[in-house]
Amino acid sequence: MSIKIALVGNPNSGKTTLFNSLTGANQYVGNWPGVTVEKKEGKIKKNKDVILTDLPGIYSLSPYSMEEVVARSYLVDERPDAIINIIDGTNLERNLYLTTQILEMNIPTVIAINMMDIVEKRGDKIDIEALSAELGCEVIEVSALRGKGTDAIADAAISAASGAKTSHPLSFSRDIEVALSKISAIALAGMDEAKKRFYAVKLFERDEKIIAQLSLSKEKLASIESLIASIEKNYGDDSVAVLTNERYEYITDVAKKTCKKKSVALTVTDKIDRIVTNRFLALPIFVFVMWFVYFISIGSIGDWTVGFMNDTLFGEWIVPAVSAGLENIGCAEWLVSLIADGIVGGVGAVLGFVPQMLILFLLLALLEDCGYMSRVAFIMDRVFRKLGLSGKSFIPLLIGTGCSVPGIMASRTIEQERDRRMTVMTTSFIPCGAKMPIVSMIAGALFGGSAWIATSAYFVGIGAVIVSGLILKKTKPFEGKPAPFVMELPSYHLPVATNILRTTWERGWSFIKRAGTVILAASVIIWVLNSLSFEGGLHYITEDRAGASILEIIGTGIAFLFRPLGFGSWQAAVATVLGLVVKEEVVGVFGSLSSMADADLALELVGSADSAGFAIIGLEFFGGSRLSGFSFLVFNLLCAPCFAAMGAIRREMNNAKWTAFAISYMCVFAYAVSLMIYQLGMLFTGNGNVVGSIFAFITLAVFVFMIVRPDKLVKSNKKDALLDA
Ligand code: GDP
Ligand code: MG
Repeated sequence: MSIKIALVGNPNSGKTTLFNSLTGANQYVGNWPGVTVEKKEGKIKKNKDVILTDLPGIYSLSPYSMEEVVARSYLVDERPDAIINIIDGTNLERNLYLTTQILEMNIPTVIAINMMDIVEKRGDKIDIEALSAELGCEVIEVSALRGKGTDAIADAAISAASGAKTSHPLSFSRDIEVALSKISAIALAGMDEAKKRFYAVKLFERDEKIIAQLSLSKEKLASIESLIASIEKNYGDDSVAVLTNERYEYITDVAKKTCKKKSVALTVTDKIDRIVTNRFLALPIFVFVMWFVYFISIGSIGDWTVGFMNDTLFGEWIVPAVSAGLENIGCAEWLVSLIADGIVGGVGAVLGFVPQMLILFLLLALLEDCGYMSRVAFIMDRVFRKLGLSGKSFIPLLIGTGCSVPGIMASRTIEQERDRRMTVMTTSFIPCGAKMPIVSMIAGALFGGSAWIATSAYFVGIGAVIVSGLILKKTKPFEGKPAPFVMELPSYHLPVATNILRTTWERGWSFIKRAGTVILAASVIIWVLNSLSFEGGLHYITEDRAGASILEIIGTGIAFLFRPLGFGSWQAAVATVLGLVVKEEVVGVFGSLSSMADADLALELVGSADSAGFAIIGLEFFGGSRLSGFSFLVFNLLCAPCFAAMGAIRREMNNAKWTAFAISYMCVFAYAVSLMIYQLGMLFTGNGNVVGSIFAFITLAVFVFMIVRPDKLVKSNKKDALLDA
């Protein structure tokens, strides 16, 4: 028999940190299908019979948000054997609100007061024994981050699970308690004794989900209603507010008895935040931080690793060695080309970016772990809210910087359907890890590896999200005020190596796995299509490349679509289309094709075989035009994401029409933006094309109109407000 233990607590109280520390490398991550927000399950390292569940962070057990619904129905329906209620010790009072509700579930509960390292550093004191006596359950000091007290809390939870329960919920005022027991008698006869308290309280709060679940008769509901009404009359407040008030009175009392705060001096975190979240400095600092991340990961060290991987490791060592080896053992010429150019060229081009990717992921994980990314969400929330968008949408975007799929899934935490849909539609505008090789390739091929290209790609993504928000908010399906969004800013702390390495590796490994599977397969297909020609009967095109390959014919057939955007070469067209399957394949296609291109061409173009790959890509596929390259980059950044992300969009939308709309929207948006960039760019550099410029100006005008047109909704809202007043 295994024991089930659930981790419950406010957002940012340290649940996931504790979860990872207790389950360690043995954790498996399960995504539950359906409407749930992700919850994780894992076995405890030291005791494999214990299954720990990391529930989404919540402030209460009311079903207001998706997280609350998920966490609550887990507790109610699955009834874990024990609960670890994790509390942020620096914010005892706010966290205890949830605790008072958890104790009503009558599930054996132990309390972990987390962040004790910070509490101690601040010189605050928490009287653990008094707190334990007040709440009637075991309380243990923990620092999940430093691994202190973590084993003790696990042991406590395990023995609580097997022992008789000892915790007792708070008692409300006498008349309320009387009403609760009457409700219990009316509606809950026959129910498990332990469950009654929770249900009675929820019925008292007129919780619709619980009322529906119990399917009570009209008469019973009416007599419950009269009980509630008489209490409401006595207290002059609605029943939920009455209970909330009593809970807070109780909490204030408990906190006064058990917690001694030192005088409130400015902490280091406060001091840093004064600068980092400063009204005027915040955005420039964010831009600089992102620039620095890209400067390291793509510009300097990263650039060197890509150069080494592509030119030296693959270009000079592996490919020639593989070719020579295969030729020596007498392989047919086509097989040598398939393996050396097609597979090693294509997969190698993608693998070449792995070190760079790892550096990028490492830096992002650092920013996340030390607490800076939470500030970014906070800063962007300010910006978003000014524009009438929901700040909560920014969290999926931050997560999407690694991979759009979890980013899109993170949108589940947004309560309002329309905001959630909008976030699902726009999350993949942010350059994910797999898009970075495209950025890096274009930067290397045409911009001398400048880190500003990546930085601008990132902010083009954010810009696209904001512009889309402004446009969509004024259309019928998306109108409405954004929901308020409260966010906790964790204290800054030194990053913990294991956390960062784990995240980095998880993200990097999925990148490598794709290189070995999808990209490998795609590379073979590309090679086959580029080695066969229909002209004069189906045949293999040898070195002289007489006749156009099938790939070239297909590419040429669709290239006209992209000519107005400035990248009309058939190679760029093929790369773009394949990018819809896997984004890395954009780079893979260029890798295979440049490796199959005439080697003499490289020498002719750059005079040396060194860094020939990038040079061929820049000169042959984009005509050496930076504008074409940038337009290509932006299009690939904003257009429909890869298959995996489209799948995630479909799952989250749970509706074919919405999915189709989302994907078409992204493609049209990308096309419009690239068109403007290229055509207006050409115009300003004196190479404008009349028709192209006209279309670009029309597109621009449409955009401006869509953004600034008066918002009918705001007006009608104002009218309502007036009427109400
Ligand atoms: P969750 O939202 O409850 O899952 O919280 P997380 O586990 O993601 O933690 C939120 C933040 O608090 C992260 O930045 C953690 O590194 C940090 N954190 C967690 N536990 C501790 C702790 O014991 N001490 C300190 N100083 N920070 C912690
Ligand atoms: Mg978490």
